[in-house]
Amino acid sequence: MRSLLDLLAKKNDIISKLSVEIADLKGANAKRCPKGTIMAKCKGFVPEEYQREGYQSVYCDKCRDAQIQADYFWHCDCCGYDICWRC
Ligand SMILES: [Zn+2]
Ligand SMILES: [Zn+2]
Repeated sequence: MRSLLDLLAKKNDIISKLSVEIADLKGANAKRCPKGTIMAKCKGFVPEEYQREGYQSVYCDKCRDAQIQADYFWHCDCCGYDICWRC
């Protein structure tokens, strides 16, 4: 059981590394969070960690707009930072 959990954690780690690398390949359009991590471009869904906490909406940390997941937005896993497409 322990090893299965380790495996899952490793898989998630690989997936998050991959999405960061993919965002990096897109180059100029990549946005970074205040900590300097490249943010993932998301659209049409609330990130899993927010859903676990009971949130149904994503808020922009710059303009405070709500429901920004209706269009595309930038999300950082490391600090839960989000920016809407307008910002
Ligand atoms: Zn905004
Ligand atoms: Zn971050």
